[in-house]
Amino acid sequence: MASIFTKIINGEIPCYKVAEDEKHLAFLDINPNAKGHTLCIPKQEIDKIFDMDKESYLELMAFSYKVAQALEKVIPCKRIGMSVIGLEVPHTHVHLIPLQEMNDIRFEKKTQLTAEEFKETAEKIASLL
Ligand code: AMP
Repeated sequence: MASIFTKIINGEIPCYKVAEDEKHLAFLDINPNAKGHTLCIPKQEIDKIFDMDKESYLELMAFSYKVAQALEKVIPCKRIGMSVIGLEVPHTHVHLIPLQEMNDIRFEKKTQLTAEEFKETAEKIASLL
């Protein structure tokens, strides 16, 4: 069965898109740790990041790097944190999280955003990419 992220890639489920290229997609996490929390995914559905071939892994990192640079310009924060977990969605994704404090990288801390805030944030980041 297709992962929820493959459904997003295929346009079957909506997302707040931040960036896209031939092989990758970046969109806002729907239950963010902090404003601007973004997921970068390969379009190829692979569960575990270290099961990717090395070239695809490095391409995902290069894509995430570009998104992180834009994110840091848009969201006031001390730095962008990066995390890979994947226990909830079995489709490789890199979490990029604007950090103000250590708790922002903990997945117990969640931020409530309105649809308008999601839309505005995604558009601002996308405008730099
Ligand atoms: P994990 O697999 O533990 O790395 O976490 C999966 C992440 O995907 C969580 O932070 C969820 O909030 C996020 N997520 C799940 N479904 C969606 C969705 N439809 N759109 C955006 N983010 C999602």
